[in-house]
Amino acid sequence: MPLSLCGKKMTFNLTKKNILVIGGGISGMTTAVEAAEVGHNVTLVEKLPYLGGRVIRMNQYFPKLCPPYCGLEINFRRIKQNPRIKIYTSTTIETITGSVGDFSIQLKSQATFVNDNCTACGECEKVCPEERPNQFNYGLDKTKAIYLPHELAFPFKYTIDDAYCTKENCKKCQEVCKYDAINFSIEAKSFTVNADTIVIATGWQPYDASKLENLNFNQFPNIITNVQMERLAAVNGPGKGKILRPSDNIMPKNFAFVQCAGSRDEKHLAYCSAVCCSASLKQALNIREQIPESTIKIFYIDLRVSGRNEDMLIKVKADKNIELIKGKVSRISEDPLTKELMIEAEDIMSGKKSKEKAELIILATGMQASASNLNIVKYNEYGFINEDGQEDGIFSASCSKKPMDVSSSNKDACGMALKAIQENEIMRY
Ligand SMILES: Cc1cc2nc3c(=O)[nH]c(=O)nc-3n(C[C@H](O)[C@H](O)[C@H](O)COP(=O)(O)OP(=O)(O)OC[C@H]3O[C@@H](n4cnc5c(N)ncnc54)[C@H](O)[C@@H]3O)c2cc1C
Repeated sequence: MPLSLCGKKMTFNLTKKNILVIGGGISGMTTAVEAAEVGHNVTLVEKLPYLGGRVIRMNQYFPKLCPPYCGLEINFRRIKQNPRIKIYTSTTIETITGSVGDFSIQLKSQATFVNDNCTACGECEKVCPEERPNQFNYGLDKTKAIYLPHELAFPFKYTIDDAYCTKENCKKCQEVCKYDAINFSIEAKSFTVNADTIVIATGWQPYDASKLENLNFNQFPNIITNVQMERLAAVNGPGKGKILRPSDNIMPKNFAFVQCAGSRDEKHLAYCSAVCCSASLKQALNIREQIPESTIKIFYIDLRVSGRNEDMLIKVKADKNIELIKGKVSRISEDPLTKELMIEAEDIMSGKKSKEKAELIILATGMQASASNLNIVKYNEYGFINEDGQEDGIFSASCSKKPMDVSSSNKDACGMALKAIQENEIMRY
């Protein structure tokens, strides 16, 4: 029977496979739906309480500059409709043993204390007395200890942060819940699943900006990272669509971007993350749209954009309120009285030292490998998963191998679905 995989019609010799996909970002979801829709059983494991990875936390994404839900919603729908996909959220991998055709994977699901009766009515949140840093917004604000990860969360239910909830000592949420959805006797559970093949799609994490001592990220609240900027600009972010600086919730007018913050630097990330230039151009154009009187300075070593993202560079160059300064930033300091930030850089074109003021500074930090530490998997010197030399039946998708954008991630994830299902398979086209 001809079936469609990644938009291409193919005829498969359908030996049903059990495929484990680790990581529920755009890449893991793509692998899962593509494999399941041609008849295979997929177990999709995600360590967070929701699917969508880093993409769901963006304001908008290039090249089309649409909100992240645009692309993700269709995957959520395909997952919901497909009984062959079993999802485990708040779950991590303990060990992987066995070999191709017969992997045995020990999983551990965290106790989130909220069951599937939850209707996300929000009554629990109103009475919860405890707060936690909001990881979805990269710590820019707080949620209650019982929280809905975000308003478009999939699965759409509340979860409890074990580290901040006082559980049996409080129980206010349990008392107010009309649906019997909260149960503090639920415990973390370890269990085993079997798989013929495994696709790892554990993605990336932002480089820790506090390691860049000269840039003083931890010292001054109005220095943020590029991922925080995504949340600051988002309609469902801390400012509800208004870009407000963290120190006093006032809308800043003068912005600066520091490109390659830690990237292409042997002491930090020796490589280029491929997307940071496009991400900053996207963010700069968004700031200009939201705050028409704003001025922006972008400090860069090289501007690396390709394909349709060139359009953003053309727009940036045409905007007289955006200045591109070729120079490496050596230091950021703060005026203790006005809280205004000062950037010192070497302006390569003029050969002079430049000193510029800014009210909000965005550090374009790079993409680091997710710390997945999976046994039997081979990693390279940067912590990314080696493309080659893995055991038979183990494949890695997209940013778990190297930094890339969403479109390349999707293509790679489709390819990995194909590899996972054709292992030991005879195909007829
Ligand atoms: C500032 C910035 C802006 C960007 N903007 C754009 C843009 O506008 N357009 C664009 O195309 N690209 C953009 N990108 C790149 C984009 O974020 C990536 O292409 C995308 O996130 C890759 O998706 P992924 O699924 O491979 O990884 P991720 O999004 O990182 O998803 C990986 C998933 O795996 C989970 N996971 C990790 N480890 C484990 C584990 N051990 N067990 C279970 N689950 C695990 C994670 O929780 C996560 O949900 C941007 C990047 C940056 C840094």
